[in-house]
Amino acid sequence: MKKNSVNRRQFISTTAKAGITVGMSLSAIEIFAKGCDNAPDNTNLENTPYEQTPLGYAYNALEPVIDAQTMEIHYTKHAAAYAKALGEATAAENVDKTKTSVEQLLGNISKYSTKMRNNAGGHYNHELFWKLLSPATQGNKPSDKLMAAINKDFTSFDNFKTQFADAGKSRFGSGWAWLVAGNDKKLSITSTPNQDNPLMDVKEVEVKGLPLLGLDVWEHAYYLKYQNKRPDYITAFWDVINWGLVEKRWASIK
Ligand code: MN
Repeated sequence: MKKNSVNRRQFISTTAKAGITVGMSLSAIEIFAKGCDNAPDNTNLENTPYEQTPLGYAYNALEPVIDAQTMEIHYTKHAAAYAKALGEATAAENVDKTKTSVEQLLGNISKYSTKMRNNAGGHYNHELFWKLLSPATQGNKPSDKLMAAINKDFTSFDNFKTQFADAGKSRFGSGWAWLVAGNDKKLSITSTPNQDNPLMDVKEVEVKGLPLLGLDVWEHAYYLKYQNKRPDYITAFWDVINWGLVEKRWASIK
């Protein structure tokens, strides 16, 4: 039985890769839109793969903001565990990964188990988070276009930063702070518990939409360097944001 189960999983993994290639022209958010009223209706973003993708930079690339040991444990242990458990949950709950994107799964997550919710969220959130971090962006800011939208929706860039930081600081226990865009491109800030995210169709997600920027405020993301000082970690985070990707995601909403 066990051997068959593994073979089936391998089969699903192989066919999923083929499916992702075939389905590349399908927009993640078009699919996601079926599950959420506030979903942006168009995007050029590719679907998030079900497997972990390479980090894209060295574990020490984000120092001194995020130390190498934290990055290595976070990527190889925590995030890897979410991806593995997501594979188990999709097999157990008969999700056809060739037909269901990670984003579509998240948009309908209320129909699945808690294990699926925690690990589909955990996998998606971390895949996005790694790409939202960049070693060479110190002092970088959004382009004029996104900055104008931030000024419009939050009064000023400083006010936006304060609100985002407050969302991260005030999230009790583990969770995420988010900059979210609705289908009208309007920007909002929210936070979610555990591994929930703004794509999910669950009541605990107060602001739904496309996550543009996310910050992991689980202790595993900062405790080795910052211990109990989550606000210091959040302050340092501004120096390693890949604003180019934030803007690309925002611009994908037509
Ligand atoms: Mn994490």
